[in-house]
Amino acid sequence: MHELRSRFRRASIAVVASIAMVGHGSAAAEPEVEIRTFSRPGLDVVYAAPVTEAMASRVADRVEQAKSRSLAFLRQSRVYPDDRAEVPIRVLIDPDAPAPSQMRSTIFLPQDRVLAFFDEEVEGTVSLAITHEVVHVLAVSAYRREQGRFFDDGLAVFLQSELDDLPAYPNFHRGLHIVTAAAARARGGLLALEDTESSRRNPPDREALRLAYLQEASFTQHLIERFGLDAYLRIYYGESPDDVVGSTLVALDGEWRAFIGALQRSDPGDPLDEPG
Ligand SMILES: [Zn+2]
Repeated sequence: MHELRSRFRRASIAVVASIAMVGHGSAAAEPEVEIRTFSRPGLDVVYAAPVTEAMASRVADRVEQAKSRSLAFLRQSRVYPDDRAEVPIRVLIDPDAPAPSQMRSTIFLPQDRVLAFFDEEVEGTVSLAITHEVVHVLAVSAYRREQGRFFDDGLAVFLQSELDDLPAYPNFHRGLHIVTAAAARARGGLLALEDTESSRRNPPDREALRLAYLQEASFTQHLIERFGLDAYLRIYYGESPDDVVGSTLVALDGEWRAFIGALQRSDPGDPLDEPG
């Protein structure tokens, strides 16, 4: 298993760094588990046993479905630059990945989660969060590289919830605003705007991690509901909120907090789910 993991890790690093592998590794020992690639136009799924080709094919189906639904949503606005639709996506079903994640146009899915996904006894209840990760590939905010994924993860969680057929962390298809209000009340209040990203990267506890995801997604939904997708995407792609809607980010955050505060006073409560 260690050998498989290290080979997957090397493959992942190679893909991410776009290192040409041709001509390298010819002296390496014969691999015990063959790493396979299931390919379609614009999409590769890299996997190894016990994941089967049939499973890889169905993962590819789900990626294509997530991509078409996400693009249909984003293309409602002409602000969406549509510059990522043709980028080839690679999915690595990785024994070493602790959770679904994404880097550039590569999506990492935990091998054990994929196997659980195809376990008939729990089929339909295990989410691979594929829409979330596909949105990260399709829509790169102006802030992701320098200032973190506040907007990126807000949009990814929101669209995972809106467009994916399987319920997923952190809200499991329940309304983002009401779940955010309940989670904040359970934890003693909302996180500060400037603390959401650090709470996702270095969470003091699981509830803070979940609340950070929820807040970013609820805030995204609030901006879209309040100002429309065009205005939201102009902010997402770097225009100042002051120029787009006449308010600073801090003022918009304050407005959203008042909205969630009203929900906190009216909501009957909500149990905290464990992350998926
Ligand atoms: Zn994310």
